[in-house]
Amino acid sequence: MTFMDRGSKPAVLVTGGAGYIGAHTAKALHEQGFLPVVFDSLSSGFREAVRWGPFVHGDIRDAGALADAIDAHNVKAVIHFAGLIEVGRSVVKPDLFWEHNVGGTVTLLSTMREKGVNRLVFSSSAAVYGQGGRAALETIPEAAPKAPASPYGDTKLACEWMIEAQCRAYGLTAVALRYFNAAGADPSGLIGEAHEPETHLIPLAIAAALGDGKPLTVFGSDFDTPDGTCLRDYIHVNDLAAAHVEALKAELAPGAYEAVNVGTGVGASVLEVVEAVGRAVGRPVPHSVGARRAGDPPSLVADPARAGALLNWRPVCSSLDQIVSDALRWERSPQYGAGVRGGRCGTVQTTHA
Ligand code: UDP
Repeated sequence: MTFMDRGSKPAVLVTGGAGYIGAHTAKALHEQGFLPVVFDSLSSGFREAVRWGPFVHGDIRDAGALADAIDAHNVKAVIHFAGLIEVGRSVVKPDLFWEHNVGGTVTLLSTMREKGVNRLVFSSSAAVYGQGGRAALETIPEAAPKAPASPYGDTKLACEWMIEAQCRAYGLTAVALRYFNAAGADPSGLIGEAHEPETHLIPLAIAAALGDGKPLTVFGSDFDTPDGTCLRDYIHVNDLAAAHVEALKAELAPGAYEAVNVGTGVGASVLEVVEAVGRAVGRPVPHSVGARRAGDPPSLVADPARAGALLNWRPVCSSLDQIVSDALRWERSPQYGAGVRGGRCGTVQTTHA
């Protein structure tokens, strides 16, 4: 029996549910008959992105606020996104990342235990792998060595260890999802991704093609990959959202802990992305090749077999053309325009590898 059997519309606390992946997951939960209760401090997410259930304004380091939200909404399970995500910032402010990401998760887990909530899906990242001594184009299974290349990755791995230990000790049942490159947007155009400043390839390539941004710089073309540019595993945010719902519904024994990659298993090169954006916009992306970006591994591609076997999950909308056309629709939507071009971000922040 899963917690789903206990109520007709089980309430799921979605910490960080006003952010990019959290908002898409809240929509997917709603569509699957759950009540997403978004708990967010709005330090990087946006109130406008909370559309599919109640909103609680709070910080995950605040045990009282978490306990009140769990009581008020009769919460049965938690999907935990809240945390800091900027890899570069984690290098200069590691203490902040440990306080928010690890400290916040300590508080969340003890509050869940106190309230008898024993089902968790945790937002982890392919950043837990780092380079890990892998051969250049190998896909990455969950058992691959863990060697995070940043304090951000360290905090995600530390949270995974802590959660696993609490599953063993207290009978918590948890799935950690290790995301590869989350991208795209919901086709509704209501929610999507925006960062300020933007650093991600797909939005920058779209802005360059639309003439809204600078020409794109391709960071290195001398990698040991088929066309010399980096390979990444781009996963549509709605496929990622669906993986969270499947992780929540999976029939797992009490005390089970699972870590699962969420990716397609297929890498796309920077130049392939540039071509796909050109096709979607109808104009080529102005670009030139520059130096490598520090810390970029040549290839980060998931072995997604475990997600298929354990969660019965497969990506259905993660072709590069679909990702890029949905990202383009979002960047042209009034919501994006009102947010980003109006001087603030729309639905911001994602957990990236
Ligand atoms: N990239 C690029 N030019 C840019 C931004 C990114 O060539 O202006 C490359 C980057 O080197 C990486 C890929 O695009 O190989 C994806 O980068 P992104 O920042 O989107 O995601 P990451 O893989 O760093 O999480």
